[in-house]
Amino acid sequence: MTHDPNCIFCKIVAGRIPSRKVHEDDDMLVFHDIAPWAPVHVLMIPKNHVPSHYDMTAADAPLLGKMLALAPELMRQLGVTGGFRTLINTGPDGRQEVPHFHVHVMGGPRPWAKG
Ligand code: 5GP
Ligand code: ZN
Repeated sequence: MTHDPNCIFCKIVAGRIPSRKVHEDDDMLVFHDIAPWAPVHVLMIPKNHVPSHYDMTAADAPLLGKMLALAPELMRQLGVTGGFRTLINTGPDGRQEVPHFHVHVMGGPRPWAKG
């Protein structure tokens, strides 16, 4: 497991920065975004420090599949019934701000603050 001591999401994984956790298992963590765009806005991250989607390969297919497969279940648990958006920002042109791979999952009734 790679851990970057300067990475904000690695600090969340390590419990050194608090977060509102939605789901945790051996290799992933899901928590509420601190600045939500929508009534429900969670971030799904690998516990392993992977900077961006660029760094994922075929070896990561099980993890990526697990994340996408869990998203609808978590949205239902969080009371989202009218649909949701799933978003991955990659690199500067993709407007990725936190360099630890994450999948945004946003839902809940409109209007939203953003998106
Ligand atoms: P990006 O632009 O990299 O795709 O999105 C990063 C997201 O991380 C943003 O939506 C931002 O609000 C969220 N974020 C940044 N710092 C923290 C934090 O310390 N805690 C939580 N829960 N979310 C954060
Ligand atoms: Zn990290």
